[in-house]
Amino acid sequence: DVVRGTDGEAVAYAIGRVAPEDALTGPDGGAPEWTPASWRSHPAQQMPVYPDASALASVEEQLAATPPLVGFAQIGALRSALAEVARGRAFLLQGGDCAESFAEFSAEKVRRDERLLLGMGNIIADGGLGVVHVARAAGQFAKPRSQRWESEAGLTLPSYRGDAVNGRAFTSFSRTPEPERLLEAHRQSQATLALLAAFRLAERSQPPVYASHEALLLHYEQALTRRDPETGRHWAGSGHMVWVGERTRSLDGAHVAYASGIANPIGLKCGPSLAPETLLRLIERLDPANEPGRLVLIGRFGADRVGESLAPLMRAARRAGSNAIWAIDPMHGNGTNVAGVKTRRLSDILVETAAFFDIAAAEGVHAGGIHLEMSGSDVTECLGGRCGIGEADLSRRYLSHCDPRLNPAQALEIATKVAALIGK
Ligand code: PEP
Ligand code: MN
Repeated sequence: DVVRGTDGEAVAYAIGRVAPEDALTGPDGGAPEWTPASWRSHPAQQMPVYPDASALASVEEQLAATPPLVGFAQIGALRSALAEVARGRAFLLQGGDCAESFAEFSAEKVRRDERLLLGMGNIIADGGLGVVHVARAAGQFAKPRSQRWESEAGLTLPSYRGDAVNGRAFTSFSRTPEPERLLEAHRQSQATLALLAAFRLAERSQPPVYASHEALLLHYEQALTRRDPETGRHWAGSGHMVWVGERTRSLDGAHVAYASGIANPIGLKCGPSLAPETLLRLIERLDPANEPGRLVLIGRFGADRVGESLAPLMRAARRAGSNAIWAIDPMHGNGTNVAGVKTRRLSDILVETAAFFDIAAAEGVHAGGIHLEMSGSDVTECLGGRCGIGEADLSRRYLSHCDPRLNPAQALEIATKVAALIGK
């Protein structure tokens, strides 16, 4: 059973689950009760089309039989920590790879990335606020893409969509979505979470590091959703926090439908095309009870557009009385291409970050967090900073599977700037 998503992409429905029409009315003919499968009756953008529906169904069954990757109590603890951010008493530091990769996974990598996050948190804490640490890790294996197709040497193939979907190698075999990849993503996510927990046990004075990823692959998310028998609430068991991306945040779309029913903290990417009225409807849909710590609005406009785009959104949310947190992602609006290489300039990232703090202050809103793409390894993917990465350096250690990440020196430079902006 295949339908077309709103962007024209075919969306494969898994077999044997809730039929779309069942989700339209509830048992009493009134509003339907949310289920982990409710998203299936909404248009889904950016989802892979799996050629083998029975292979997908088998993977979904295997995932559904696993224990949740994160405990309900830990998710609740993150919600409480974020409620402090919403009240203006703490700051959210969220960061990690654009896309985790199966090949790069190792305990050392998890350790390096986690060390960097904690090191940045230490610096930011000097600004005078407690820091909530959330890694982009343990599930960040899938990517929305602006281009559905890529061409090379006369050959056109589907775009790479992250290791949980297809392979980077430019062959038709590798670019075909394989549902079994979800099992490897799940296995590595479990290992990453176990490592993070082990590091915390070894260093009990360090703050908790929570895990987050974009809730893009809804077959995976649904299969890992669990109902808490004590409260009746549903939790995404795939990570402590998940976010809805810029390309999938349509009000009536599948991703918003899924996120609306889980009790985890939810991020929502807010780019230049988001109108204030639409933001208010998204807030109403994702955070109807207006609970501090539930919703994080993550602005991502670009240094040249943040000035015109952010203030109207912040003002609308404030006037509506929303308790949602505002954070800034100064990465995704600042992509640029230098001699065919995707990169970002540290100067643009710093300008957008500073503008976020200025605008928040002018609007009487707490500047609540920053969301970064960064690596604990010494990569050369973004330009500038005191480490002096120039255009000629980009090819030296460009390891990202998707967007360019800050290296540790660049990330720490941003942390220093953030501490100064908080302390201002
Ligand atoms: C991302 O966070 O990697 C991403 C794709 O962001 P956005 O949805 O804001 O473009
Ligand atoms: Mn990215």
